[in-house]
Amino acid sequence: MLKVMKGLTDVEFERLYSTEEACIEALLMARREALMACPSCGHDRNYLCGRRVGCTRCNRRWSVTAGTVMSGQNSHLRPGSGPCIS
Ligand SMILES: [Zn+2]
Repeated sequence: MLKVMKGLTDVEFERLYSTEEACIEALLMARREALMACPSCGHDRNYLCGRRVGCTRCNRRWSVTAGTVMSGQNSHLRPGSGPCIS
């Protein structure tokens, strides 16, 4: 059953975002707000397909967590990287 979104308690909000689907949905919204573009063609419109995001233009799909804080395990400091001096 659908409930009006207004007046959610913290507990209800937490429950809404406790499922993986809700988490992915929130991630996708975060991506859209950050204007994450398609890594292939640069298009900024995408759709959710399971755990992946698809580009509406070239149909390329990539992990929904790519480029977000949740993909932190993939990020690493490059050797020699440091404060930019120029
Ligand atoms: Zn694309």
